[in-house]
Parts: sequence; structure tokens; C-alpha cells
Amino acid sequence: MQNNVSNEVFDVIIVGGGIMGSATAYHASKRGLKALLIEQFDFLHHRGSSHGESRTIRANYSKPYYFPLVMDSYTLWQQAQAQIGYDVYFPAHQLDMGPAHDPTLLKILENCKIHGISHEVLNRGQLAEKLSGYIDFPDDFIGIFNEFGGVIKATKAVAMFQTLAHKNGAVLKDNTEIADIKKDENGDGVVVVSASKNETFRGKKCVVTVGAWMRKLVKKVSGVEIPIKPLEIHVFYWKVKEGHEGDFAIGGDFPTFSSHGGLHVFGTPSLEYPGLVKVVVEAGDTCDPDKREWGPGAKVDELKEWIKKSFNGFVEWREPVMKQACMYSMTPDHDYVVDFLGGQFGKDVVVGGGFSGHGFKMAPVIGRVLAELAVDGVPSGEIDIKPFGIGRFNNSQK
Ligand SMILES: Cc1cc2nc3c(=O)[nH]c(=O)nc-3n(C[C@H](O)[C@H](O)[C@H](O)COP(=O)(O)OP(=O)(O)OC[C@H]3O[C@@H](n4cnc5c(N)ncnc54)[C@H](O)[C@@H]3O)c2cc1C
Repeated sequence: MQNNVSNEVFDVIIVGGGIMGSATAYHASKRGLKALLIEQFDFLHHRGSSHGESRTIRANYSKPYYFPLVMDSYTLWQQAQAQIGYDVYFPAHQLDMGPAHDPTLLKILENCKIHGISHEVLNRGQLAEKLSGYIDFPDDFIGIFNEFGGVIKATKAVAMFQTLAHKNGAVLKDNTEIADIKKDENGDGVVVVSASKNETFRGKKCVVTVGAWMRKLVKKVSGVEIPIKPLEIHVFYWKVKEGHEGDFAIGGDFPTFSSHGGLHVFGTPSLEYPGLVKVVVEAGDTCDPDKREWGPGAKVDELKEWIKKSFNGFVEWREPVMKQACMYSMTPDHDYVVDFLGGQFGKDVVVGGGFSGHGFKMAPVIGRVLAELAVDGVPSGEIDIKPFGIGRFNNSQK
């Protein structure tokens, strides 16, 4: 027997209240659609991928199809923060560095040229001059420096989209785990979304944005196996040497940065904790999102060595002062999954996941695209979602 069966039919039900689901609810409700956002835990919890203080935004991508998404996102972040009345986006320069012949770096350079992004290519000496020696790299490295970096305040941004969605009339429901999604047996085309607590919700369309739980939930409801692998990753904060805190602060010369070739390290200027910089190594351990290890973090010793040699002694490298665990949802090619689920659901269920550790910055545009796919069947403008199709994994359906 099912309790609390709501007879209300929503235009769109969004399952998963991280940044992607919250941005989708915002865009759907902004269009006047009746939207319902459902989250399994408390809203703004710390057990998924969208919590914490900061995420990097950068236009430097090695794959060309991300560039228009980022540029749209810059505009949409600014529009949303103007609506809410506080800032979530803090501009900075971006530095990508690595061996001069590193393929990723060369692709980034090529994309800067193709898209007309004004940039500087720096050798070691020029970098030392530009950043007063606060970042160093080996003689065979180059740096690509441009103005398209920045920091997005993560949990604050999720809260912003949820608040704006609520203001627009969306219904927000947390502590409700969705156990099943199916088409109504009456043949009326409605999608029935059932919670494990015997609650049922009805929608004309459904968008599934369940992050690291995507593979499990989609397999359960449709039999489709989307190869999204959850990884546990740690964010670390490191102390800037006394007297130099201002040199690493956002708003000055110190950029958001990524280091390629070998260890992939990225970081942000200090913002959330004055005097601390966030420096993260992109390495993690495979995890089950329902049975987390909460491990010590991968490649931490390599990261310490990287910090020691890259910050010229201006950052205390022996131990981080703070750490936080989070999850990546990795696809084999590190590209997103933004598509219709297909099969018995046709175009009535849309999935947005597999953001592979680089989705946050794009959330405003991905949320818009997911809402458009659900309601219009196609994304607006020039957005190309072909690289994000489920078909690329050769799935079989139940
Ligand atoms: C350490 C770290 C650093 C990162 N740095 C960057 C960066 O610098 N720049 C960048 O662009 N990106 C970055 N990312 C990636 C970015 O944070 C993610 O791509 C993004 O947060 C993914 O959001 P999501 O909404 O898909 O997933 P989530 O935030 O996990 O949201 C999914 C939600 O669905 C809920 N859910 C799951 N199953 C159910 C169910 N059955 N019923 C109801 N609800 C359910 C979950 O509880 C969760 O709240 C980073 C990620 C990590 C972990």
C-alpha cells in the first residue's frame, strides 16, 4: 500500500539535490514550470559531490566542446547571483602549466587560439616575474595564463539555486530517497517516481541528477548500465608562510591553477580561509557511495613534494591544516552524461551525471540544458550535447 500518493502532476520532477539538480530546478521554475526537487539526505549535506567551500571555474579545456559551455556559465553565474543579491563567483586569472610538449597543454593552447581567448605563454623566468616567485616550475615547463579563471563558492551556490527555485514556486523535498522510477501503467504518459518511504510523486517528465549514485539507480530502474565510477577524493588546505598571506589571496595576482603531465594538481587562491590555499591532487580511491571508506586520501606524499617544489617555500608543505572528502563520478572518457534515458522512458526521463570531477563550474548551463531536454526535447542555442550521449558506452537495455 502506498501512502501520501500525490495526485498533483508536476511538469518536471528532479531527483538529486546537488548542484546539477538544484540548477535544473532553478531553470525549470524560472520558466514557470511546476518543478519538484527531491533529495535523499538533508539539503546541503556533505555526502555527495557539491558540498564545501570552493570550486574552480576556468575556460582552459583540452576538448573544444566545453568552451561554449563555460562561457555561457560565466554569464549565468553572474545572472543568478544578481537575482539572489550575494556573490558566489569570484574572478581570478587561470594558470595551466606542464611540460612544453604535454598533449593536454598543447590542446589547451590550440583551443585558446581557436576561440580567440587572449592568453600569455610563459617560461619559467617569465612566470617568476609575473607571480613574484610564488609559483615555480621546471625549466622544460610552460604556463598558459589568461583571465578566465575564478572560484565558485560551492555550498553557497547550491543554496542559491535552491532558494531561487523555491522563490519561483518549485517544491523542495529532502530526506526522501527515490527507489524507483517508472511509467504510469494507465498509459497516460506520466512518470511515477517512488520513494523508499512509500511516497509517490507524478510528473510529466523526470530529470535524474544523482551524482555518484547514478549507475546504481539507473541500472535498477531501467537496466541500462552507465559506466560511472565513484571515486573518493580529498580537498586539502595548506598554510601560507606568515607575512605572505596577502600574496596568495584572491583578487591579486595569484591565480587558480592546474598542473598537467605526471601528477595532476589543481588549486585556488585563498578565499574561504584567509592564509590557507587549497591544493588538491586529482587522485582517488574507488568507492561505494553507500559504504564510504572515508580513507586518508590518495597520493598525499606526492602532493606534499609538489607543494614543496612549486611554492618556493612560501607554503608549509609538511602537513595540510584541513581536509575534506568528496566524490567524483568518473566516466571512462571523463566526458559528461547528458541524455535521454531512452528504452521504455523514451524522452520522458533525462539523465545528467558522470561529471568526472569538472562539472561544478558548468552547473548553470547544464541545469538549463537538462530542463530544456525534459521540456522541449532539445537544448537551446548552439550547445552541442552529442559528446555526452549514453550511446557512446554501447549500452544494452533491460
Ligand atoms: C574534491 C572535488 C573537487 C572538485 N573540484 C571541481 C572544480 O574545481 N571545478 C569543477 O567544475 N568541478 C569540480 N568538482 C566536480 C563537481 O563538484 C561535481 O561535478 C558536481 O558537484 C556534481 O554535482 P551533482 O549534482 O552531479 O552530484 P551531487 O552533488 O552528488 O548531487 C547528487 C545528489 O543526488 C542525491 N541522490 C542520490 N541518489 C538519490 C536518490 N535515490 N534519491 C534522491 N536523491 C538522491 C545525492 O544525495 C546528492 O545530493 C570537484 C569535485 C570534488 C569531489
